Amino acid sequence: MGIDDTVLVRCTRCKSKFRDKASRLRDGYTRQCPTCECMVFFLDGSPNKDIHDALREAERVRKAIREEEADRIVRPAASAADTDDAEVAPALSRRVDRRARPAGRATIRSR
Ligand SMILES: [Zn+2]
Repeated sequence: MGIDDTVLVRCTRCKSKFRDKASRLRDGYTRQCPTCECMVFFLDGSPNKDIHDALREAERVRKAIREEEADRIVRPAASAADTDDAEVAPALSRRVDRRARPAGRATIRSR
């Protein structure tokens, strides 16, 4: 399951909402509003609540993406350990043994 890597931003001037990549949205980033075409400045410590919220949300999304990527790296190794090689292998050999024995007896009887 992928994480939405965009953040909802509210234009400081026309209050219309648009989405922008969380990876770009950080302190010092500027973005032109697609609606009113004014420049929206994303500055840490901005008195504007919308900017503040967008920066905080972007930070949260970036963290979630980092955690998901770390998860993806960890998971293949974890699932390999979870397959229980020690349990599956004897069960398989047991099944082979059971199949081999009657066959061996049958060949002896037929002789
Ligand atoms: Zn605008």
